Order: sequence, then C-alpha cells, then structure tokens
Amino acid sequence: MTAATLLDGCAAAQARPAADAPRPVLRERGQREVFCGLTGIIWLHRKMQDAFFLVVGSRTCAHLLQSAAGVMIFAEPRFATAIMEERDLAGMVDAQDELDRVVNRLLERRPDIKTLFLVGSCPSEVIKLDLAKAAQRLGAVHMPRVRILNYSGSGIETTFTQGEDACLAALVPVMPALPADAPAELLIVGSLPDIVEDQFLRLFADLGITRVGCLPARNARDLPRVGPNTRYLLAQPFLGETAMALEGRGATRIEALFPFGVEGTSDWLRAAASAFGIDPALTEQVIAPGRERARIGLSKLRPQLAGRRITFLPDSQLEVPLARFLQDEMGMVLVEVGTPYLHRAHLARELESLGAQVRLSEGQHVERQLDRVRADRPDITVCGLGLANPLEGEGLTTKWAIELVFSPIHGFDQAADLAELFARPLRRRDMLEI
Ligand code: SF4
Repeated sequence: MTAATLLDGCAAAQARPAADAPRPVLRERGQREVFCGLTGIIWLHRKMQDAFFLVVGSRTCAHLLQSAAGVMIFAEPRFATAIMEERDLAGMVDAQDELDRVVNRLLERRPDIKTLFLVGSCPSEVIKLDLAKAAQRLGAVHMPRVRILNYSGSGIETTFTQGEDACLAALVPVMPALPADAPAELLIVGSLPDIVEDQFLRLFADLGITRVGCLPARNARDLPRVGPNTRYLLAQPFLGETAMALEGRGATRIEALFPFGVEGTSDWLRAAASAFGIDPALTEQVIAPGRERARIGLSKLRPQLAGRRITFLPDSQLEVPLARFLQDEMGMVLVEVGTPYLHRAHLARELESLGAQVRLSEGQHVERQLDRVRADRPDITVCGLGLANPLEGEGLTTKWAIELVFSPIHGFDQAADLAELFARPLRRRDMLEI
C-alpha cells in the first residue's frame, strides 16, 4: 500500500512548512503517490547490523516490507511486523499488553538484537497506540541488554525517505555526549552503503581528519558522540528532523553541496576540510585522483545525456541535488524538479545552481503533475513505481526513484554509476525506436 490511499498531501505538508520563497516554487497539495516511511527499514536494517525493526502495523505493512525486501518468510531477518488484528483496532484487547508479549518473546528468541525500534504505522496511529510509552516501559525491563526506541514510519506522517529521518532523529537523544572541551569531531549523517562510507573515511583520513563518526553507526549500540564541538556533514538531503535534533545537542552543520558527481563530492569534501582547518593545497592533492577517475567515467556518458530533457516527480527528496548534478555535469536540461519537501536551508547551495527557467515544485498533486509531464514530454521522467508503468504506456521513458535510493550513488567512484542509471533507460528507448 502506498501513502496515497491513506491521505492527501495536507497532513504531511502541515508538519513541515516551507520557508519563505526567494524564487517561485509551485506548491502542490493533493493526492500523493509515494511509499510510506516504512520503506526505509529495507536499507536501515542492512546498515545497523545489531538492530531490529518491529513494525506495529497491519498485514498490509507486512506485505509492503516483505515484497520490498524480497525476504522469504523462513529467513531470520532483522525486521518483522507485529500484526494488529481487528480486536486490537476495535479496542477489545489491551494493545500495550499484546505488544509487551510480542517484544518479550522476540527478545528471548533473538539474543543478537541490541537495539529494537518499535516502528509506528497507520493502524497504530489510528488507534493512538503510544509507542513512546511502550518503548520506555519495555526499555526499563530489557536495558542494558537491549535499547528500545520508537519512531513513526506511517503513511500519515511520513513519505519514503522520511522514515530514515525519523529513525535517525530517534537515535540522537541516546548518542553519548562529546564534552565541550573535547577537540572537534566530524559526523557524517545519513545512511550510506558500507563501501561508500569506507571510501569517504579513507579520504578524510588522508586529509588528516581522524575523529570521524557516522550516523547511523554500523552497530546501533556503537553510536558516535555529539556536542558543541561536533561539525556534521549531511550525506542525504532528507534529514531535516535529524539535523534539528543534532543542533539541539549543540552540533553545527557544515554547509556543502551533496556528494553527487565530481563537483558535489569535491565541494562536500572541501567544506569538511575547510571546517577542520586543512590546508587547501592538501585538500586538492587528496581529492585529485578521485576527481580524475570520476571525470573520465562521466565523460563517456555525457554524450548520451547532454541536451536530454528530464522531469523529476516528487518522491525521494534526492531530486534537487541529482538535478543539479545532471544539469551541471551531464548537460541535461531540467524541465521540472519536483520534491516532496523543499528544505531551503539544506538545499540553499544546490538551488543556486538551478537556472531561473527550471520549474521547481514542492509537494504532490499527482494529476496536475502528470498533466504537465504529458504536456512537456521530457525525454525521461523520474518517478515512483506506481506512475512508471502508465507513463511508459504513453510512450514516455521513466526511471524509478526508488532505484536511486537503493543504489550506491554517492562519491567519486559511484559518479559514473549514477549517470548510468539515467543513461540506460534512454539507450533502451533509443534502441526500441530504431
Ligand atoms: S504504514 Fe500505512 S501506508 Fe505504510 S504500509 Fe502500513 S498501512 Fe500502508
């Protein structure tokens, strides 16, 4: 099930009001066609290897997770759904008691679980099941062996990548304190595939920045420290709530482009190096080999993408930085860049790059946006799974936004793979048209 069947855009839009607009932004408020925040569990459970995600939801939530993750019922995965039956929903039993029983049984059977997330869904929210209270009560029983936290992944409150934001924000209050007189530490914020995270850690080490933490950490019980001497660098553009929580603990954001493509990655690394007082000459020396590898990789794909027109429908919140990369480095023409939420402060540098002619939209009104796609007929449209088939049926080429979230696309060594994700559907379309 997608969030679209449960609500229109208003509730979520109210939860995060847009800042005053210095450039025109088309505000859309209507039917949405995006996955809910539960989807984030698919990549988060792979990243945090000692964590378990227990969705308190319906059979629909369980089906969404199982089909998105492709997990067999016999596997011992690190997520599950505590299914709420009709009698729970009708208030005929005490859902808190039922939940305690499920959690106690799970933790008895799985001693490997060190952090348990109770994840709220639409049904648990509808009956106002207080998961914060449940996490506190169960935590008192199972700490210190297991830390129990909660967040909401429901389609009423979250879209797609907001699930990660809610999960990471839930971790911030339990991060250990970095003392005010401790030397500055760098914190990379946002879930990255391990291979990409390792590449960045190597580059920071070469720059001489050795005190580097990652949120999420690979072991959820091994959280990095945070305090007034934390300088944090966002790796993902959809972490507004997490950023606010980190700042609440005194951390300061390093302003940078997001690390997509040669220029985004260079800017991200340079901004961190400058915040830590690294000699600019050393920075250029360290990033030069990666820049060159990425430049060569992209030069092969640029002829396939240059001049091609692209529209982003609002989905993953990666839209603005990816549009900047495709325009500036691949020569693509941006027709419309739609995003579910426009975080003006985090995207300020990215937005500077988008030309005044680019139509920028925030929020979703699926019918109106599809009408514009039909009128514009871009060469490629980035959209959710549910919209791709109908658009392909109308002769339009599409790219699934979800693939961009599931694929390693950050950093120098993934830049060509990122460009290839857009080039492949266009090549396929060109071949079909011959
Ligand atoms: S949380 Fe809501 S939108 Fe997501 S799968 Fe469950 S019922 Fe559907």
